[in-house]
Amino acid sequence: MKGANFLNEIIYADNAATTQIDEEVLNFMIDLQKKYFGNPSAVYKISKPVKKILNESRKIIAECINAESQEIFFTSGGTESDNTAIKSVLFENLSERPNVITSAVEHKAILNSCEAMKNLGCTITKISVDKFGSIDVDELEKKIRRKTKLISIMFANNEIGTIQPVEKISEVAKAHGIIFHTDAVQAVGHLPIDVKNFDIDMLSASAHKFNGPKGTGFLFIREGLKILPFIDGGGQENNFRAGTENFSAIAAMAFALKKNCEQMKLNAEKVSECAEVLLKILREKNIDFILNGGENRLPGHLSLSFKNCNGETLMHRLDLKNICVATGSACNSRRNEISHVLKAIKLQKNYARGTVRITFGKKNTPHDAKTIAEVLTQIVNQG
Ligand code: PLP
Repeated sequence: MKGANFLNEIIYADNAATTQIDEEVLNFMIDLQKKYFGNPSAVYKISKPVKKILNESRKIIAECINAESQEIFFTSGGTESDNTAIKSVLFENLSERPNVITSAVEHKAILNSCEAMKNLGCTITKISVDKFGSIDVDELEKKIRRKTKLISIMFANNEIGTIQPVEKISEVAKAHGIIFHTDAVQAVGHLPIDVKNFDIDMLSASAHKFNGPKGTGFLFIREGLKILPFIDGGGQENNFRAGTENFSAIAAMAFALKKNCEQMKLNAEKVSECAEVLLKILREKNIDFILNGGENRLPGHLSLSFKNCNGETLMHRLDLKNICVATGSACNSRRNEISHVLKAIKLQKNYARGTVRITFGKKNTPHDAKTIAEVLTQIVNQG
């Protein structure tokens, strides 16, 4: 197949599920593994460079989101960061049976963390979204109660790409003295993020979404925020998240994030061009589909719902042609049901069932987009 961007035969367009690690980042990580093995907490000389690398990585990451080094806590990825944010705040306030406000379109790492806390006496308020997946900030403000201790609204949605009005949400949270957390797993490395300017209290990120390695991420926690440690043990991460640090992956994450932030504008232009090429072809071929998520979406992120089709069938038939896309969301791809996000935007069922998510990454080319559009057209027209 021509136009394949890597792995020779494959067109990979599922970058919201994961990205391929950047080659330079991978080589850097392997090199570190070869050179250093000392435990960063040890005090003899072979551990010193490891500790130094960790500190430098923390600084690089902090600079990328305009935070301070001591506000970055390394985790195993987005799921752990989200669990920590939700549970640490709610555990801190557990005796008051606290309330958390979140949205109907969050990732399961948020929704299921909230559900787990419900069993311990916490309450959850879920804000609905409009047809584009965006929350209404006035509705959010009306739902605030005396016991609301946390507002957790994602930066950008992993299924339909909608970018939420984060600055307005943080304004409301501040006005009511409530902690604001945002799951920015899909946004970090792809959209400009300034935690000071946006007045964010906590932010989750995951390295494998921005061409870093899997199994590492971070949680930004504004300095001075009083929350309970989530993983107890040997006192690493300033007594907040114990466990020997995965130092080479952390350093690779910092490198990948810096690289992506430096190339953000260029990458956004590239992936947006791919998305435009694909949409143009589908429209020219008169294919009946809905583009979900409205105008204010992540660049290169297409959630497309084809009338009277089956998303899973479309995904498998594209796979047979060596094209990787997702049905709605990777987390739902093994279940043949309409995702909670598509239900929340009230998409008609005859379109919702035929949803595929195509997410371009920095390695994709307009030729990839053209190939995907042509193969999709054939499959949809065959019925
Ligand atoms: N939050 C969002 C919005 C995501 O898209 C994902 C992964 O798809 C996660 C959290 C979980 O991140 P991780 O895979 O690093 O655990």
